[in-house]
Amino acid sequence: MGNYVLKCPACGQVTEDPHAAMCPVCREKSLLQTVYEKKQIDVTEDPGVFMFRDWLPVRSQIPTRACPVVFRSENFAKELGLKDVLFGFTGYYPERNAFAVSGTFEELSALTVLAGLQDARGSSSSVMKPLVVASAGNAGRAFAELSELGLPVVIIVPETALPAVRVTNSGKNVRLITVKGDYADAAAVAERFSSAAGAVPEGGGRNVAHRDGAGTVFLRGTLTAGRIPDIYIQAAGSGAGCIAAREAALRLIGDGRFGDRLPEIHAVQNEPFTPLKSAWENDHETVLPEDMNDAENMIRMTYAQALTDRLPFYAQSGGFRDSLRECGGKVHSVTEKEAKIAMSLWQFYENCDLDPAAAAALAALIKGIEDGSIDPEKKIFLNLTGGGYDPIKEDFSLRYIRPEASVLPDYDFNDDPEGLLKWKNTAG
Ligand SMILES: [Zn+2]
Repeated sequence: MGNYVLKCPACGQVTEDPHAAMCPVCREKSLLQTVYEKKQIDVTEDPGVFMFRDWLPVRSQIPTRACPVVFRSENFAKELGLKDVLFGFTGYYPERNAFAVSGTFEELSALTVLAGLQDARGSSSSVMKPLVVASAGNAGRAFAELSELGLPVVIIVPETALPAVRVTNSGKNVRLITVKGDYADAAAVAERFSSAAGAVPEGGGRNVAHRDGAGTVFLRGTLTAGRIPDIYIQAAGSGAGCIAAREAALRLIGDGRFGDRLPEIHAVQNEPFTPLKSAWENDHETVLPEDMNDAENMIRMTYAQALTDRLPFYAQSGGFRDSLRECGGKVHSVTEKEAKIAMSLWQFYENCDLDPAAAAALAALIKGIEDGSIDPEKKIFLNLTGGGYDPIKEDFSLRYIRPEASVLPDYDFNDDPEGLLKWKNTAG
C-alpha cells in the first residue's frame, strides 16, 4: 500500500484499494478523497508536477517539465487596481518557465494518472490494456501527448474537438474516435467502450489521481504566497478543478503552516451554456433540465468548449455544490466577447495567449472587480488553466491525430461495425 487511503466524504468509509472508483457503501453518489499519510508537504526535487509527490497518489514518476507556474504580473495587476493577486498558469510559456507542451493543466492530471498506472503495472497484467479517455479536447490532447511514453490510449472526443487533438511527437500509441455529439456523449461512448473492451476507463474528475494532479496548481499558488488565498478563481466545466482546489486547501489547512481558512471559490462559466451557475443560484440539489435549456444549441454557441459538460460533478457528496457551500463564493459567467477582451489585455501585458476557458476566468476577475463581487483588497489567486498555443506552434511541428472512426452517441459495441474493439489488443 502506498502513502494514502481513500475516504468517502458522505459516510466516512475508508478503503485501501487504490483503484476503488466508488464508495462500497454509497456507491457512485460520492467522490472519494485521498487522505495522505504525510500531513506536512515537502516540495521535492522530482521532475515537473512530481515535485508535489507527497500529496499525489502515485509512487512512479514520468520524465516531464510540465508543472504549474505562479507569478504576479505586476503591470497587469496595477491596471486592474489589484493589491495582491497571483496568477497560476499551466501551459507553454517559456519566459515564465511553463513547459506543458499540450498547453493545458489537463497535462498535470494526465501525468499523475499515467504514473498511477505505471505503479500498477508490476502487480497486474490488466494495466497494459488501453486507457480510455473521454474529453472535450484538452484532456484528450494531454493524454495523446504523453502516450508516446508507452501506454496505449483510446481518446474519445466530440467531432468538433478534432482540431484540438494534436501532439508534438509521433502520437504512435493513440487511437482517436470522434462522436457526433457533445462531451457528455463522448463520455458515454467511452464508458461503453471501456466495458466492452475490458479497457481501463480514465474516469476524469472522479479519478483521485486526476483531481490531485489538478490540485497541484492550488498547492503551488499557496506555497508561493505563503498562505491560502482569500479568493480562488477558476473556470468550471465539470467542476472537478474547483473541487480539487478545495481538497488541496483542506490539506493545506491540515498542514498547519498556511492558514486555517478555506478560500472563497469563484467559479466561471462561459455564456450561453451555464448549468452550474443556474443550478447554484437557484439552489437546486442537482443540475436540472431547466438549468440548461436548449443545451445542444447553447453548447454549439459556447466559445470555451472545455466548459460544456452537461453532467458536471455538482450534486455528489464532496462535489461542486458541497465545495461552494463549504467555501462560500459564487459562480460567475462571462460572454465570448468579454473573454476575448480579457485575453487581448493579457497578451498586452504578458507575451502569451490563453485557452478560451482561462480567458473566461480572467474576464470574470475583471468583471467581478467592476461589479463589486470580487474585493480587490483581498488575496486573490487566479488559475489560468491553459495557453501558449501560439508559441507551441512556433517551437514544435505538430501532428494532428487522424480519427479511426466517427460514431453516433448510441454506437453499438456488440455489433461494432467499425471494428473498434480490436484495439483492446493493441497493448504491448
Ligand atoms: Zn460512502
